[in-house]
Amino acid sequence: MANQQGLVSRAEDFNEWYNTLVLKADLADYGPVRGTMIIKPYGWALWENIQRALDWRFKATGHENAAFPMFIPMSFLEKEASHVKGFAPELAVVTHGGGEELTEPLAVRPTSETIIGHTYARWIQSYRDLPIKLNLWNSVVRWEKRTKLFLRTLEFYWQEGHTAHATAEEALAETRQMLDVYTDFARNEAAIPVIPGEKSENERFAGAEMTLTIEAMMGDGRALQSATSHFMGQNFARAFEIRYLDANNELQYCWTTSWGLSTRFIGAIIMTHGDDQGLVLPPKLAPIQVIVVPIFRQEEERTRVLEAARAIQQELQDNGLRVKVDERDNLTPGFKFNEWELKGVPVRVEIGPRDLQNETVMLARRDVPGREGKESVSRSGLVARVQELLAAIHDNLLERATQFRDSHTVAVSDYGAFKEAVEQGFARVWWAGSSEDEKRIQEETRATLRCIPLEQPGGEGTCFYTGRPATQIAIFGRSY
Ligand code: AMP
Repeated sequence: MANQQGLVSRAEDFNEWYNTLVLKADLADYGPVRGTMIIKPYGWALWENIQRALDWRFKATGHENAAFPMFIPMSFLEKEASHVKGFAPELAVVTHGGGEELTEPLAVRPTSETIIGHTYARWIQSYRDLPIKLNLWNSVVRWEKRTKLFLRTLEFYWQEGHTAHATAEEALAETRQMLDVYTDFARNEAAIPVIPGEKSENERFAGAEMTLTIEAMMGDGRALQSATSHFMGQNFARAFEIRYLDANNELQYCWTTSWGLSTRFIGAIIMTHGDDQGLVLPPKLAPIQVIVVPIFRQEEERTRVLEAARAIQQELQDNGLRVKVDERDNLTPGFKFNEWELKGVPVRVEIGPRDLQNETVMLARRDVPGREGKESVSRSGLVARVQELLAAIHDNLLERATQFRDSHTVAVSDYGAFKEAVEQGFARVWWAGSSEDEKRIQEETRATLRCIPLEQPGGEGTCFYTGRPATQIAIFGRSY
């Protein structure tokens, strides 16, 4: 049954809760073509903040932004065997342009490794041209069978980094560095605790030698691959002849990487922090960090209260915060409270005639519902307190999500316990199985190997599935 926000509870139907919330909170709408999505201003503002938080991190680690064409000759995709095999079923292909059939069909990029490979081969001659470290902010198209708003759409926005290096060591360091960037971003901007780890061969990117991932647990215990970083070895370099003359004047193949984070991450934010009242946005990424709701009855109060509300907005903005005053006069304060709660604004400021008189304002934090999350502060102490609150909310969200994940992660040593564990969250196991074992487990339990965490306990155990001696721990879970 839907609550006053028009949402079913998460416990009742998580999927329904999510789909309704995305629409009701004005993040996105369905596009006319199956699986496509319109990102509305509120959702796009969230994406812009994600972009900003990532973009400076990319630049601080020596990358530059560029733009590449969205049309890729089909022949490019066919050059790397496993890449085309992996992506062929998901390709959108253009056969006509300007009313005429094209001599060669063009793929709409599902990812840009191939056109990057083609181009880097032209740009790179000697070791002096290396490394090349570019990032693209764009959208790509993958004709997905199962789709879900933000998590899996036919067209999605993302960034894709593409680098070329002289040595394997350098490319491996890059792959790892970008995973660290994602991990840092997830924790410190989105308050999402993620498990950085390596994908198994089954789950590896098509054409990669190694795929690193950050895996997060959503509020229903399911896993979400939240970003990936790939070490391509020399696979694309050989397919596209990306070579350089080394210091001894000998021709060598380059080593390449790629890494991406998409609008799926918005889904991660919604499903990690959201509650039955709606979104709970992490303060550092929230499009609106503080909503000011003026409260008045008479016209004479209205002017004074609005003036005070605007002054508060100005002062908070001058301190670098994103603030909005809800001046709509056809709606009650109670209605506005609900709406901004649904939209997940971290802090609400209420100001009315009595507050003016007492030189105070009322604050409410989104992450602590009801009375407990409310406090009256002096007008002069407002900015400092709001800043404190935003930091406290971030810490609380991270703490809560970490606790939830840890309490839904079970270390198991037999298949029976494993099946129970993946019903409600992650199973943490000693693992020495094969790709076939993994596939069988998936068929039997719908759980997949999410990652081999980079952080390992060391020592040795017994594989929960094969009974063989194992030296590594793996995380399994059902995924989106
Ligand atoms: P990949 O190039 O397959 O490694 O994908 C990079 C990242 O993009 C993944 O970690 C996902 O988070 C995200 N992603 C992949 N496919 C989709 C999709 N259809 N819709 C939204 N995000 C996606």
